[in-house]
Formats: sequence, C-alpha cells, structure tokens
Amino acid sequence: MSRFWNPLVHTLKPYVAGEQPVLADLVKLNTNENPYGPSPRALAAIAEQLGDGLRLYPDPHCTALCDAIAARHGIGADQVFVGNGSDEVLAHIFLGLLKHDRPLLFPDITYSFYPVYCGLYGIDYREVPLDAAMGIDIADYRQPCDAIILANPNAPTGRALPLDAIATLAGDHPDQVVVIDEAYIDFGGASAIGLVAQFPNLLVVQTFSKSRSLAGMRVGFAVGQRPLIDALERIKDSFNSYPLDRLAQTAAKAAIEDEAWFDETRHRVIASRDRLNAALIKLGFEVLPSAANFVFARHPAHDGADLAAGLRRQSVIVRHFPKPRIKDYLRITIGTDAQCDRLIKALRGGAGL
Ligand code: PMP
Repeated sequence: MSRFWNPLVHTLKPYVAGEQPVLADLVKLNTNENPYGPSPRALAAIAEQLGDGLRLYPDPHCTALCDAIAARHGIGADQVFVGNGSDEVLAHIFLGLLKHDRPLLFPDITYSFYPVYCGLYGIDYREVPLDAAMGIDIADYRQPCDAIILANPNAPTGRALPLDAIATLAGDHPDQVVVIDEAYIDFGGASAIGLVAQFPNLLVVQTFSKSRSLAGMRVGFAVGQRPLIDALERIKDSFNSYPLDRLAQTAAKAAIEDEAWFDETRHRVIASRDRLNAALIKLGFEVLPSAANFVFARHPAHDGADLAAGLRRQSVIVRHFPKPRIKDYLRITIGTDAQCDRLIKALRGGAGL
C-alpha cells in the first residue's frame, strides 16, 4: 500500500502464477508446461538470431510468424494477431472487445486470470456455474450479456466441448463477441479456428506455451475476422509496438513449421495421460475426462490441500486451488512417464494413500 498508488492499484487482485521453484530432483507438475523440449528447429533458429542483429528492433508486425501461423491453419495472415504469450493477447481482448454495458460471461471454474483482467479494466462479469459433472452447458449462456469467454478445453477441469457446441454458442450470440481460449486444444480437442470464416463474432486464442513447448519464449495468438483483429492491433500499437522479440518470433515460426516434432511430442503426452489416468483410478481417485495436458482429480477419502502438501514434501509439485467447489481436486500436469511414476509413488508412499 502506498499513497503514491493510483486508486485502481488498491483494488487489484493480481493473478497468482504457479511457483517456479529451484529444487534439486523436483518433479514439476504444477504449471502445465510440456515435459519435452521445444522443436530442435526452434532452438536452431534462436541460435541463428544470436548476433549483431539484436541491435535492431524486431518486426513490429511479426509478419513471418503470422504468415507461418496462417499457412498452418489455412487462413489469411491478416486474420492473425500475435502477442507476448496468450496472456497478453487475452489482456488486449478483454480491454478492446469484452468491455460493454452488459456483463461478460464465463464459467465459475475456469482460468483464474479472467476475473483479474476484469478487475484491471473495470469489466462487469457474471460467472456461470459449471454443471454437476464440471462441464459447460452452453444453454446456460442464453442470458443477457455482451460477450462470452470460454476456455476449451476448460482449465483446470480439462473437459472439452465439441465443435458443434462452439458453433451453436457463436450462432446463439451473433451480436456478442465469443472468445474461445484454446491453450490446451492440441491435446485432444477440436479447434474452432475453422469456424472463424463463418462467424464474425468468433475469436480463437492459442498459445505456443503448451503443445509447442515454448512457455519460456512467451508467444500466443488470436484468430478472427478483420474487425476483431483490427481492434487488437490498435490496442497493441497504443501499448507496446514490439511485444515479441527477435528470438521469440523466429523460434515460434520454426516451431509451428515443425509438424513432425509437434505430433510426436503431443502424442507422447496423450499416451502418458491415459497411463496416469489408469494409475490414479487404481489408487481410488476420481479423474475428470481430460482433453488437456493435465488431469483434474480428487480422492474421496483425502483432503486436496493435504495431498498437495504431502506430495510437496517429496518434491512433487502439483497445483491446488483453495476455491470452495474444487478445493479437494489436484490439477496434475502430464509429465514424462517417469515423472508420472514418481507422482504415483509419492501418493502411495508419503501422501497418505
Ligand atoms: N489460457 C489458459 C486457459 C491457460 O491455462 C494459460 C496458461 N496459464 C494461458 C491462457 C496463458 O498462457 P500463455 O500466456 O503462456 O500463452
């Protein structure tokens, strides 16, 4: 608290990121990073950039990267907006497209950054409860609003909506912006990028942090029709003209062009998810069906906070959210099979199972 603060700063409830501890022999399954490294082609592209060229500002329009994203998804490069992580892309979306007279709708259990942006930008919002199975029922969104944002697959539940539900949602609200945050889409969901041509109100957000294994580079993007993208460009150029440095632009371009690495690593994660699911169920956990690179699980006989603390004592870190409806769940990032085995061993050993 300081008398020098703008009054808004006093009201903020900032997002709390998962920890990035530096511990020996840590099994880090708390922030949904990819256990496999980035594409070797991305690393080579970064190495090539290291030189005198770093004197110069990067391309403010990220032209080569937008072209590569557009080619990968079969859309026009002018339908792509890139930012410094999808968090930054989302921030610009909240400011430019989700602030209106009537509330913004999103699920009561979803990415916890959404209410934080609402606080920062003074956006009125309403949380729509997930159904009893922790799923999203799009019929619940047929209520007065001026915008909707959903994560698909949702976080931290991992549950995905089928594409026809997204199309119905966008069609139900032709005069409202509908944002689909697809941070985890490549691990089992169907992307709505193909629907953008049909729905001028639809904006799809993706990230390079998960399936492209570049969380350390901070690259995310949005796909939508020109008027929506135009709003984001106007905000970006009123905030920071060069949000992506040269290394990030070149790494992301190489990563999205390396389809073989992408496919191999995401299928490995999906296979480990199936294996971890089975092992958790064997220990008595209830595991929500996940289309993401994490699972959301609870044990009927154990307190979630206790389980997380027990794991931590054994250097296995998972994410626990002390929120009423989900306080007994653990969100566990899918690691390598060896890391998942360490988690299961730690649950059996010291965490009380
Ligand atoms: N959306 C969701 C649903 C997420 O879980 C995350 C990761 N915390 C993000 C967006 C942001 O990812 P990034 O900024 O790394 O692209």
